[in-house]
Amino acid sequence: MPTFTFKGGVHPPQRKDITRDKEIQSLPVPDVVYLFMTNHVGAPAKPIVKVGDFVKTGQLIGEAANGISANVHSSVTGEVVGIESVINASTGRRDQAIVVKRTSEDQWEYLSHDKDFKKFSKEEIIQIVKDGGVVGLGGAMFPTHIKMIVPNNKVVDYLIINGAECEPYITIDDRMMREKADEIIKGIEILDYVLDPKKIFIGIENNKPEAIEIIRNNVRNNAKIKLVPLQTKYPQGAEKQLITAITKREVPEGGLPIDVGTLVFNVSTIYAIYDAVVNGKPLVERGITISGSGVKRPGNYWFRIGTTVADLLKYVGIVEEDKIDRILYGGPMMGIPISSIDLPTFKGNNAITVLTKEEILKRRTYPCIRCASCVEVCPMGLQPYYLKKLSDARRNDLAEENGILSCIECGACSYICPSNIDLSRSFQTTKKVIQAIQKRRG
Ligand code: SF4
Ligand code: SF4
Repeated sequence: MPTFTFKGGVHPPQRKDITRDKEIQSLPVPDVVYLFMTNHVGAPAKPIVKVGDFVKTGQLIGEAANGISANVHSSVTGEVVGIESVINASTGRRDQAIVVKRTSEDQWEYLSHDKDFKKFSKEEIIQIVKDGGVVGLGGAMFPTHIKMIVPNNKVVDYLIINGAECEPYITIDDRMMREKADEIIKGIEILDYVLDPKKIFIGIENNKPEAIEIIRNNVRNNAKIKLVPLQTKYPQGAEKQLITAITKREVPEGGLPIDVGTLVFNVSTIYAIYDAVVNGKPLVERGITISGSGVKRPGNYWFRIGTTVADLLKYVGIVEEDKIDRILYGGPMMGIPISSIDLPTFKGNNAITVLTKEEILKRRTYPCIRCASCVEVCPMGLQPYYLKKLSDARRNDLAEENGILSCIECGACSYICPSNIDLSRSFQTTKKVIQAIQKRRG
């Protein structure tokens, strides 16, 4: 049996056993939601409702801007009570958010849809995905309809379905594959119809044997789809690492997967495509893992986008505040620390992880001993210790020359460092500074 994996990577404790066998449960619909106009990568959507308007669940409230952008829909039925500037952890700044107060049970507004998706042309399907505000749900939040438009000079050899879910604690994609396999396979068929790849691969880490078995049984009669069990290694689910593991193709520096004839979609995104095209549902809800030793009822949940973290945690319960070390959007490797639980969730939010002080023992930081462990594990072939030196000296020009913009912020270097240096966090900051300078220069 060949081993499908990539160069570098680490093996942090998985801690998936906390939630891997917990079925997805629906959380109560919240009384209020905050819907960011930047709920995606690219230009903010433009609000098309005003304070006092009545909106239905699924109603368009923010219209995608030109270029890279995505629609935003109300995730509850109620009244628009504010259009405010709110801290958006996904962008790291204050963004415009439409605040909707729920006033009744759901009254849905649906997209154009049909169980027999082949009644639509390829262009119509891309339009439905655009209308539905579908974005990459693995965390990237890139507008999905744009990914589905293949440039004339490119071909899709391989469509890769990302079921790796390598981040510790997170099990929602595992549960999605186990509980919603039929819908995910239908979503893959929709993408097959639109993109017409030569081959389709579904990559799942081999720590999810049930998902592998279920998906394998579902695709048994489709010779075009191949299930690929992947070695369990972090960050196996990162797009470029997944492409290399499965196809042996390398996405060039600064390039895109399509440059090597490949497109990658996460399993939750595939489900959202299915839900939009077959059920006519815009992206207003999704699955999430809420886990960590600080959560009383850890599990996998279905929630309305824009719910505050406080409302999510109210339902699952958390331990006393003085026992908590940190609360993260996402998992411990790539997660974003939450500054206040009153902040809202967003479309790319696949996990909330609550870690206790007992679980995260404070580690003192020591000077770099030039052991090169960070170099060995970096999946992008970078020299993290050197980039850190350049970042600390604010030599952004040299950091850029040495590839810092290729850093995928996976945290593998920070995890392995015997001196406990948080290299990855420092690269996030330096990258933001370089990107802001580049933007100013146009
Ligand atoms: S792993 Fe840490 S100590 Fe070792 S070279 Fe990298 S930064 Fe230095
Ligand atoms: S330098 Fe970036 S890509 Fe490399 S291990 Fe560190 S965080 Fe990951």
